Amino acid sequence: MSEPIPRRYPGATHLECTGTGAILESEALHGLSPEGKPLFARYDLEALRDRFRPEDLVARRSDLWRYAEVLPVRDPACMVGLGEGWTPLLPAHRLADALGLERCWVKDEGQNPTASFKARGMALAVSRALELGATELALPTAGNAGGAAAAYGAAAGLPVHVVAPRDTPAPIIEEIRALGAHLQLLDGLISDCGRVVREGVEAHGWWDLSTLKEPYRVEGKKTMGYELYEQLDGRLPDAIIYPTGGGTGLIGMWKAFDEMEALGWIGPERPRMYSVQAKGCAPMVRAWEEGREDAGFWEGATTYASGLRVPGAVGDFLILRALRESGGAAVAVSDGEMAHWVGVMGKTTGVFGAPEGGAVAAAVPRLLASGHLKNTDEVVLFNTGSGLKYAGMEPLD
Ligand SMILES: *Cc1c(COP(=O)(O)O)cnc(C)c1O
Repeated sequence: MSEPIPRRYPGATHLECTGTGAILESEALHGLSPEGKPLFARYDLEALRDRFRPEDLVARRSDLWRYAEVLPVRDPACMVGLGEGWTPLLPAHRLADALGLERCWVKDEGQNPTASFKARGMALAVSRALELGATELALPTAGNAGGAAAAYGAAAGLPVHVVAPRDTPAPIIEEIRALGAHLQLLDGLISDCGRVVREGVEAHGWWDLSTLKEPYRVEGKKTMGYELYEQLDGRLPDAIIYPTGGGTGLIGMWKAFDEMEALGWIGPERPRMYSVQAKGCAPMVRAWEEGREDAGFWEGATTYASGLRVPGAVGDFLILRALRESGGAAVAVSDGEMAHWVGVMGKTTGVFGAPEGGAVAAAVPRLLASGHLKNTDEVVLFNTGSGLKYAGMEPLD
């Protein structure tokens, strides 16, 4: 807050299709590329090399807008903020002992507005929708994204339509309603909710905020990568363990590391990226084990970790590529294991994690046993939400 706020930030130079590399201009609303693939925002990082250095960030505001030069919003008046990002990276010595690691950290994303890291993505997507003139927003959600979209829509003064499965955790349903979004509950999965949203998009011109179907949620989530670097005093960990649904956070951090290399902050070395999924919905794990480059659809998805109940992901090939290029892997754990490790994390760190955070801890003993992790690795565990949002939910397997 101590620096003067520039009148305008440079924003993105263009959008790039992650499938073909085709280029689109960035100052109009775009969803997927013409080829049906996610679009990435690109920046003039060469020009930023001298103007956007880690030491320039020290005195900046403690939210994700500290990285404004590498974010797409140009007009500060359109930055819709509720205090998202800059969550603590907590040293977790006793959890490390319980897991058989020498060093580990918990990045506690439950401390975001709306108590999950979906706030990061929605802050950017809603801000950019506002800046580019969208008038009504919509999305299908497995849970937390709906709460975050409702919150940022309310803050921006834009109506939001949320379509969610009827068995979404009750606290999240109450949150979406309290924040004033139009909520439709369906007997089905997030993929069924997606169909209803597409109808609304065609009939009423809603702007679709679905994961990776617009270019900016990933820009909000990538800030986790920049934060890790700053919070570890200018280094990255050996391994990042991430609970993967649509994969926006993992894809976003992987993008952030490429940007940080282009900015001259880091060299070519990268953390190993590990995806954790639920045994009852593990399309990335199945594709990983079969050595495939895309994941296809998982039939009959079930898990109480609603953020992981994503049977098909439009960014599957980007997730699998990041795992492969980083030397990581994908593993599945049961709901029972998640619940057990939510308890261990709670007792050893003071963080009441979401089931997705429990899943990440549950993966560590397996990754140690399989030799993917060494006990000397410095490991970051992502707790992506607060356990409070899952009140009343029970493990399903
Ligand atoms: C959405 C969600 C996830 C999955 O995040 P992606 O980046 O879409 O893979 C994990 N945990 C929680 C709590 C979530 O809400």
